[in-house]
Amino acid sequence: MRSENQPLIFEMSREGRIGYSLPELDVPETNTDELLPEGFARKEAPELPEVSELDIMRHYTALSKRNHGVDSGFYPLGSCTMKYNPKVNEAVARFAGFAHIHPLQDESTVQGAMEMMYDLQEHLIEITGMDEVTLQPAAGAHGEWTGLMMIRAFHEANGDFNRTKVIVPDSAHGTNPASATVAGFETVTVKSNENGLVDLDDLKRVVDENTAALMLTNPNTLGLFEEDILEMASIIHNAGGKLYYDGANLNAVLAKARPGDMGFDVVHLNLHKTFTGPHGGGGPGSGPVGVKKDLIPYLPKPLLVKTEEGFTFDYNRPDSIGRVKPYYGNFGINVRAYTYIRTMGPDGLKAVSENAVINANYMMRRLAEYFDLPYDRHCKHEFVISGKRQKKLGVRTLDIAKRLLDFGFHPPTIYFPINVEECMMIEPTETESKETLDSFIEAMIQIAKEAEENPEIVQEAPHTTVISRLDETQAARKPVLRYMKKEPVEV
Ligand SMILES: *Cc1c(COP(=O)(O)O)cnc(C)c1O
Repeated sequence: MRSENQPLIFEMSREGRIGYSLPELDVPETNTDELLPEGFARKEAPELPEVSELDIMRHYTALSKRNHGVDSGFYPLGSCTMKYNPKVNEAVARFAGFAHIHPLQDESTVQGAMEMMYDLQEHLIEITGMDEVTLQPAAGAHGEWTGLMMIRAFHEANGDFNRTKVIVPDSAHGTNPASATVAGFETVTVKSNENGLVDLDDLKRVVDENTAALMLTNPNTLGLFEEDILEMASIIHNAGGKLYYDGANLNAVLAKARPGDMGFDVVHLNLHKTFTGPHGGGGPGSGPVGVKKDLIPYLPKPLLVKTEEGFTFDYNRPDSIGRVKPYYGNFGINVRAYTYIRTMGPDGLKAVSENAVINANYMMRRLAEYFDLPYDRHCKHEFVISGKRQKKLGVRTLDIAKRLLDFGFHPPTIYFPINVEECMMIEPTETESKETLDSFIEAMIQIAKEAEENPEIVQEAPHTTVISRLDETQAARKPVLRYMKKEPVEV
């Protein structure tokens, strides 16, 4: 039976059917009314489906088949680096010495795990060209906020209380202005020029004695490498500001270029993107932050350090911005990233960048015949095309994205960055074969032809998914988040 026809658990429910067996009670039975304060104990049993263990298995398996993941198909979601997550990472994350330990255990009993984290930090220092790294932040945006709080602490320690502004290019990732605001700064936008790069004249115009930092996403969200970084660095440093590198997508520069060598003072990485932590389901991430020497005192505490007696957490850090996460980051994701770095080695990591960039350029060139290419330059790990031509035929970028679902592909990121009309941001990643890239390109070409010859088929897509087009306004304003039981289906 196809997963879309498989009845879900609510329809399978039959009164009295049971899917579990519990051992006999070997302690005295207690009345919950005596244990819980008045009003806290349920008076009636919740309305749960009554099903067998097999029914539950089929329910969850059917749900999983209705979902799209990197293990089920191509997922070119720009800026998200949906690359293959090697299964060896999972095997290592399940080693008893990693999986069966607790963060509150005595340090002497978890030296191996601490060594792994320390070694990961050392690798990230090497990869980024920074002087020290913390693994605490739980995601990219969390790393941004952590980095900005350190920059604030640095300025304040110098008596520089008026550095209230963070400069963010209009092509930056959306989390950059958000993190700056949450960290208590005012954001100032710097414009892109006609090449899609930061406009240096505009940068000179907005920088002043109130500048705390410039946050740069590089390659920027158009997939373009910022060419004037050294000049930007000197403009900002001469004004007394700090340089922040958003390294969430390191896929194009890994083992090729290092933020530390470009003059950056702070960088965050997304281990769940470039370094193959599974992501996309809202699960744990990891956003380590690296800093140059003069920001080390402000790193979150504790800091993992190596001493003559072994590895330990250093809490004696009086200038630290404090703790930003319980324990020391999302350990399981860090194990996966470490495994990835060690299995790839330096040459492997270099090949990642080369293949990510060549895949993106190949796709961009082939699609440029059928879609508008707003910035006709070599791209890095991703690129942006526009559905302007198709819009004139009545087919919006949203329709194209929905139609791609019929071909079994996850759509690219759409309507972002906002400075490109009818934008599609495509990131193929290095782990896809030429055959997969070609089949996606063929699907896009077919959709472009449909837009000309048979636009309804695109406008009404998707046709093959369990749920067809949603009413987006209703879904945003009045979401139905609870499953509503349908009448049992007789099959
Ligand atoms: C994904 C991403 C972020 C945010 O990372 P999260 O882990 O989702 O918080 C920041 N910057 C860029 C460029 C990104 O692609």
